Amino acid sequence: MPSLKITNLEKHYQSFHALKSISLDIEDGEFVVMVGPSGCGKSTLLRSIAGLETVDSGTITIKDRDVTHLEPSDRGVAMVFQNYALYPHMTVAQNMGFNLQIAGRPKAEIVAAVDRAAKILRITDHLNKFPKALSGGQKQRVAIGRAITRSPDVFLFDEPLSNLDAALRTQMRVELGRLHKELGTTMIYVTHDQVEAMTMADRIVVMRDGIIEQVGSPLDLYNRPANQFVAGFLGSPRMNFLAASIEAIADGAVTLAIAGLKQTLVLPLDEAGAGLKIGDRVRIGFRPEAALADGTDGLVLPANVRVVESLGRETLVYADAGVVRSIDSESQDGFFAVHQSQQLQFAYDAPFTIGVPADALYL
Ligand code: ATP
Repeated sequence: MPSLKITNLEKHYQSFHALKSISLDIEDGEFVVMVGPSGCGKSTLLRSIAGLETVDSGTITIKDRDVTHLEPSDRGVAMVFQNYALYPHMTVAQNMGFNLQIAGRPKAEIVAAVDRAAKILRITDHLNKFPKALSGGQKQRVAIGRAITRSPDVFLFDEPLSNLDAALRTQMRVELGRLHKELGTTMIYVTHDQVEAMTMADRIVVMRDGIIEQVGSPLDLYNRPANQFVAGFLGSPRMNFLAASIEAIADGAVTLAIAGLKQTLVLPLDEAGAGLKIGDRVRIGFRPEAALADGTDGLVLPANVRVVESLGRETLVYADAGVVRSIDSESQDGFFAVHQSQQLQFAYDAPFTIGVPADALYL
């Protein structure tokens, strides 16, 4: 039984179509991360589940209960916001117990729930402090603690770590993972951060323009993106793309011509390419880490070094392949990104042949 079932959800803001017939099943205990470009509707979807937005049509079911038109407090969800949203005039303990107090729970139960959450989050020493005396990371723990004391069926997180510095984000990421294991509760998490999505999610939901483009495990999405958008969205630096056209199709393989290159490429054709015909213009993609300097196999692109970024153990090279341009890469000036897992030094303009084995190319 899915813990959360969303069926044909529609939402407009005046004439703007923010959610377009969204359907999604989330299993009990799953950690689902929603990603997508700014404005794609992730927060709107999360807030609709929370009951902070009304939807035009469609249903939201939590543990087999239709909650579509229920008040936020009656849905069995608890939401954690980016800005913590703590009450400044209440202590940490009061903040964490507030929802139970409102619900009229006995004092002993509230104290026990607050103590338990504080232990899980390691903030027992701060229970009598006021929010202004806490660091950002501690405030976010209190906000999470307030959600835990409600014992929700589903936790909703709206970019909870984006106000924290990089080191603390890494630490909180690990702690949220531990929290999820410890509580075993369904969690839905919206983020801009690819590392959070890749490391924390059981499944990632990729959204664009109010629709879901693909749902799958992080590696599934990374290795088998359903379309060019998902391929380009996950991964940093992003996947490189170049334009090609189909010269021949035979025996389950396709021969590709790339403008500006003498060499043709032969790639296997899977069911996704079933409708392709000779003359069609297509895109070839390869991940920066799949490219080898001076490779001679598969796609071979003679290029020159333009920018080198030393990341310590690794090196990122942006290379210019002349008339063969990396497309949809405004920020890269048409250069191809190549990620090498070692320290390397290159002079500006040094020759650099990008080689990508055929099994690392996407059509
Ligand atoms: P971000 O990553 O920038 O937070 P998002 O994917 O969470 O983006 P939403 O906040 O869900 O995006 O917004 C989706 C779209 O709906 C955006 O284009 C936004 O401008 C619009 N929108 C959101 N809230 C409202 C509102 N109250 N009134 C009108 N338009 C809105």
